[in-house]
Amino acid sequence: MRGSLGRKLSLVIMLVFGLYLLLASVFVYIIYSQYITLSRTMVSHFERAMIAGELTRDAETIAGEVYELLVGNDRSVSAGNSRVANLASLYQATRERLEWQGGALSEQDAMALDRWQTPFFSSLDRLSDRLRAEQELEAEQLKQMDELFLLLRLVTELEAGAHDLSGPEQRFIGPALAALGYAAAAFSAERPGHLDRLEAYCRARLDELAQLPLTLASATALRARMEQQLPVIFKRRLPLLQHTRATLATARQTRVLAQKLTSATFEYHKRIKISAEQALQQQQSLIQHSITGLLAASVLLLLITLGALFYIRRSVIQRINELSRSMQEHSKGVSVPIPVSGDDEISRMGKTFEFFVNARSRAEQQLALANKELQSMNHSLQRLSEVDELTQVPNRRCFDRHLESEWRRALREQRSLGLIMGDIDYFKRFNDEYGHQQGDECLHLVAQALASQLHREGDMVARYGGEEFIILLPEQDLGQTRHVAGRLLNAVRELNIAHTRSDHERVTLSLGVVAGIPAQQDRIEWFVGKADKALYAAKEQGRNRLCVAPPECEAGCSRPG
Ligand code: GH3
Ligand code: MG
Ligand code: MG
Repeated sequence: MRGSLGRKLSLVIMLVFGLYLLLASVFVYIIYSQYITLSRTMVSHFERAMIAGELTRDAETIAGEVYELLVGNDRSVSAGNSRVANLASLYQATRERLEWQGGALSEQDAMALDRWQTPFFSSLDRLSDRLRAEQELEAEQLKQMDELFLLLRLVTELEAGAHDLSGPEQRFIGPALAALGYAAAAFSAERPGHLDRLEAYCRARLDELAQLPLTLASATALRARMEQQLPVIFKRRLPLLQHTRATLATARQTRVLAQKLTSATFEYHKRIKISAEQALQQQQSLIQHSITGLLAASVLLLLITLGALFYIRRSVIQRINELSRSMQEHSKGVSVPIPVSGDDEISRMGKTFEFFVNARSRAEQQLALANKELQSMNHSLQRLSEVDELTQVPNRRCFDRHLESEWRRALREQRSLGLIMGDIDYFKRFNDEYGHQQGDECLHLVAQALASQLHREGDMVARYGGEEFIILLPEQDLGQTRHVAGRLLNAVRELNIAHTRSDHERVTLSLGVVAGIPAQQDRIEWFVGKADKALYAAKEQGRNRLCVAPPECEAGCSRPG
């Protein structure tokens, strides 16, 4: 890891990517599990709540039907009975649907429902049996009514023939009608006491009829029939009355049980509804938690990404920029510090660049040193090439270049230029007399004496060749040149170098002097030639003198006394 920026960056990117994948997987899992839970809730809780609702509705309908039967006049009608039976089977079917749903009906719920459901259906069965039995009793009562109507018709027929009847038969009509009336009243009697009283009244009338000495056979038969039938009416009416009361009690009980069952199923429906709502709330809180988690994770991921970006910017981009700036500055020749801290690719690049910069700097220093040495050598060479070794004054080549430059300047500025050509007199003889080494020494002394007389910048003395010297005096007219030439003659004379074989017994000079403002058509060679001719003239005229060109000669004034 140490020293590898690439691996560090790869690790950072992989870390961010891995975190992203992890978070994405977690949220996909959460959302999927929520979807599954929600589906289950939808399928189980709401389905159960719906079935429980149906159950409540069925129980309520049954209770309503039972109530209708209870208050209705035609409770003995079998249609009502079968309607209740149909509703009961509907209820059972709904209940079975609940039980088929795995875990929809807990043991506790089943017990709570069974607590009322079982007695309710038993009570319903009992009610059904009672209604059926009551129906049979009522059918029998109808027959008795028919019988009563028949007896009434017979009495009425007997009464119709009363004017033909004897006394007992006539007295028969009244009590007979009364007995029939009491018997008829029994059909609508609702209480046993009332029935008992009616029976007693009827019995009294029958007893009264039994006292009558009837002679008519039809009357006797009618009385016997009444004796037989009327007590039966009272006898049968009481069980029917009692039965009806018991049926009413059973119906009431059934109705109460139906209401209890309704409230039990409603409780169950409520519980299911509450648990469905709780499940929904759980879902909602789960979703809220998921959203909060998602937001928190997003913020975390954002922070991590920002951190990664900051790290990349600080450890890579900034350092590369610094290195790039430093390289650019160095390329412009500005020396700035090179960033080399750390031990990774960028710092290694910096160190490599620093190595090259240092190497270049060292090479430049060596080059500067070498240049300096070269300049010095060039200077020495130039000096060697322009200075006469023997006399240590400029040589002819140097003079020629100097003369040409001063000639051009004088021409350009139209200033005067002075030139003196000199030659040591009888120098061959000097050599012959004193030897070449002394001759060389003499040449050196003469040259230095001449140089010592030139003080202005631009004045120059050069060895022109052998024992000849030439002196250039820029910006000097003829008079000034001549004056300098006189000083030169004296300076050599004052050296006082013995020369026994000279006419003057010491070393002397002859000088040719020329001066003037150059014209365009003039040439340097012509100018120098004039000085040379003047020198020749000075030689001709006896040496140790100066001669001014053209042909002015100063022999007289310069000759030594
Ligand atoms: P004149 O007065 O007419 O000039 O006579 P001169 O003898 O000086 O002239 P000439 O041309 O006959 O002789 C010049 C001599 O200068 C010949 C030569 O030996 C001598 N000479 C030339 N160069 C050197 C030198 O470098 N060293 C020495 N010792 N002698 C030199
Ligand atoms: Mg000469
Ligand atoms: Mg000479």
